[in-house]
Amino acid sequence: MEKEFANVIVDISHEKVDRPFGYRIPERLADSVTPGVRVKIPFGAGNALRTGYVIEVTDHSEFPRERMKEIDSVLPGTKEPSQRLIVLAAWMKQQYGSTMIQALKTVLPARATVGEKERKSIELLLQDAQTQELAAQMERKHQTARLRLLQELMANQTISWEAATKRLKVPSSVISKLESDGVLKVHASVAYRNPIRRMGEETEKKTLSEEQQGAVNGILNAFDQNDRRPSLIHGITGSGKTEVYLALIEGMIKRGRQSIVLIPEIALTYQTVQRFTARFGDRVSVMNSTLSVGEKQDQCRRAERGELDVIIGPRSALFVPFPNLGMILMDEEHELSYKSETSPKYHARETAQKLAELSDATLVLGSATPSLEAYSRAQRGDYHFYKLTKRLTGGSLPRVEIADLREELRNGNRSIFSVSLQEKLRDRLARKEQSMLFLNRRGYAGFVSCRACGYVCKCPHCDVSLSEHRGGRLVCHYCGYEQPAVKLCPSCGSKYILGFRAGTEAMEEQLHKMFPQARVLRMDADTTRTRESYEKILAAFARGDADILVGTQMIVKGHDFPAVTLVGVLAADLSLSMSDYRAGERTFQLLTQAAGRAGRGSRPGEVVIQTYQPDHYSIQYAARQDYEGFYKEELTYRQLLSYPPASHILAVQFYSKKQEEALAGAQEAASYVRQVTQSRQVTQSRQFTQQMSGTVQIPTPAATHNAASAALPDTIVIGPAPALIGKINDVYRYGIYLKNHDYEKLVELKDGIEQMRSLPQRQKALCQFDFDPVHSF
Ligand code: ADP
Ligand code: ZN
Ligand code: ZN
Repeated sequence: MEKEFANVIVDISHEKVDRPFGYRIPERLADSVTPGVRVKIPFGAGNALRTGYVIEVTDHSEFPRERMKEIDSVLPGTKEPSQRLIVLAAWMKQQYGSTMIQALKTVLPARATVGEKERKSIELLLQDAQTQELAAQMERKHQTARLRLLQELMANQTISWEAATKRLKVPSSVISKLESDGVLKVHASVAYRNPIRRMGEETEKKTLSEEQQGAVNGILNAFDQNDRRPSLIHGITGSGKTEVYLALIEGMIKRGRQSIVLIPEIALTYQTVQRFTARFGDRVSVMNSTLSVGEKQDQCRRAERGELDVIIGPRSALFVPFPNLGMILMDEEHELSYKSETSPKYHARETAQKLAELSDATLVLGSATPSLEAYSRAQRGDYHFYKLTKRLTGGSLPRVEIADLREELRNGNRSIFSVSLQEKLRDRLARKEQSMLFLNRRGYAGFVSCRACGYVCKCPHCDVSLSEHRGGRLVCHYCGYEQPAVKLCPSCGSKYILGFRAGTEAMEEQLHKMFPQARVLRMDADTTRTRESYEKILAAFARGDADILVGTQMIVKGHDFPAVTLVGVLAADLSLSMSDYRAGERTFQLLTQAAGRAGRGSRPGEVVIQTYQPDHYSIQYAARQDYEGFYKEELTYRQLLSYPPASHILAVQFYSKKQEEALAGAQEAASYVRQVTQSRQVTQSRQFTQQMSGTVQIPTPAATHNAASAALPDTIVIGPAPALIGKINDVYRYGIYLKNHDYEKLVELKDGIEQMRSLPQRQKALCQFDFDPVHSF
């Protein structure tokens, strides 16, 4: 018997229909119904025809075939790559817990809103030097609208008419004037908008080092032998990972395959993209959040039509539909931004691996500080592993010094700069070398520490720091533990125990006081509202327009400033005290990356790490640049406390405008989970299979195996507990946390919770799932 049934998702955004429905495939459509195609199906009252996506074709159905309806017709125009993406969406829905519609919206390129013909675009005609000159001239004359337009064109060779007139608010008369001056050209219609600015000169191809060549050969050979195990490249900062990526992409092009290059959004700078365009010209494009819907769509079309070999972008670039995808490359694989914060809360690493599997492609991860997840898989042999241990520009790794801030305080130094850092800064200023000062503000969400001894208030049950909530109460957002504010340090009795507040602005001020002659640039969320201002600060610092660059974590990302010989980390503890089990890893990564900024040129670099906890293992290992040492210690800690990657966590989050409703939702789920995980005798029938006007609902996997395998004695259930931020926009938030070393068991529990909640008379709070969360909830 042929496969005669299809599971179809109905394309209407309504929770009640957000599950597959079974349909019969009529004889005449037997060949054309495949996963991913769009079909017309009779649905609901009156059997109106609606559009749906086929997510699966199967040869069996649990329901009598005569009760099932038939697919009416297949809609044309669905291409292979998008079919894969729909299968991927179904997988994401299942693995991460979201509605099917949310998953589809994540993977499918947005619908066309502007017809191709109506679009007008503006192209920059000038060369680099001329553009710079003109920009300077406009700046002098305070021609702000013109300057805005020119800057946008400098970042993107071609922009849309709408972007210029609506977003940048440049009057059309100004555009016409610039066109008649020969600065730009307005095109009546564009085939495709290319978001990449004209490329610079071809750069010389470098002869790869032995280590680099080893990685390239290893990965390509495995590929040719159909070994599709992912690869991890662990290369110290500046060891030439990007050069390896370029060679791999070239290898893929030779094999007629395309590549997706994922990089953290923050690293998606002109400098980075340029290295790829210099090599592959206009067969490279970018995807990112600043592109308009139309621009994104164009990149997808260019990819589909085989006009691109490479797309570069943050996690959403995964969903660019290439006809013949060969490789997905993930740079800075450890970055937290690879995890989505909206449903489906997917991780790009795992999703990339699934997509690679569906596309017969290979996944390559790169990092100077691999995540514990990736590194432990490499150790187990699940990944191929390559190491790059040398800097190729002649520079060596910098010398790292730890400054104990408690001692500074004891010696009467109340400044935020240690004596040693002050001396070194003075020295750099005298020698006309550059310095970078880095303040990690990420973790400063209200943790409380003692300025005298470094003591941090922690939850007695969870080993995470407590957060200071309004009114001074200290709360653990993992278990709900609460205690009143502390007035005196429990460890040393000092009264200098306070929530940490210090900003980059304060740093800048102090620098001006201390070194009035120094030219200081500041880079943080306030000074970089737009991409241009971000690029501008980087370019100015690279040109040597400033002596010191002060900033938040955004300055540590992959920029090459050869004249920097000193890096100062002002308070390394800030990220250590994040109320998060990843704090140690995060701190180690940030410090290692920050240190990696120093001494990239010919002159040796120095790093000063200021801290209240000089003995903390993360700081010690970072100072020694000892990844393996860190990895071993951190993994032991994760194993002891059942945190990823030793175990998996599922956060089930509840939201409601009514506090009691959010709490009740969490309580209901917690007691459901406690019940199914503790009693071996769970009677749960398949009563969930309901009927909707003749169509038959497909039971989700949990319904088929929930009762028997529901006894999951190794599941740890924590909560309900209020979220870190208990209320946002008048919506209350509660969570429960489930831990199990087996991810699939958590998926089962997720399915079970979804089903339990679909029964009548259940709690109304909105529920979301987050597997192995990396963002505080
Ligand atoms: P990473 O991505 O690991 O930080 P990059 O690829 O940016 O490292 O390389 C760091 C520096 O080393 C760059 O300036 C790059 O041009 C240079 N480099 C990389 N590979 C080679 C090579 N094989 N020979 C000479 N220089 C190289
Ligand atoms: Zn706790
Ligand atoms: Zn103290």
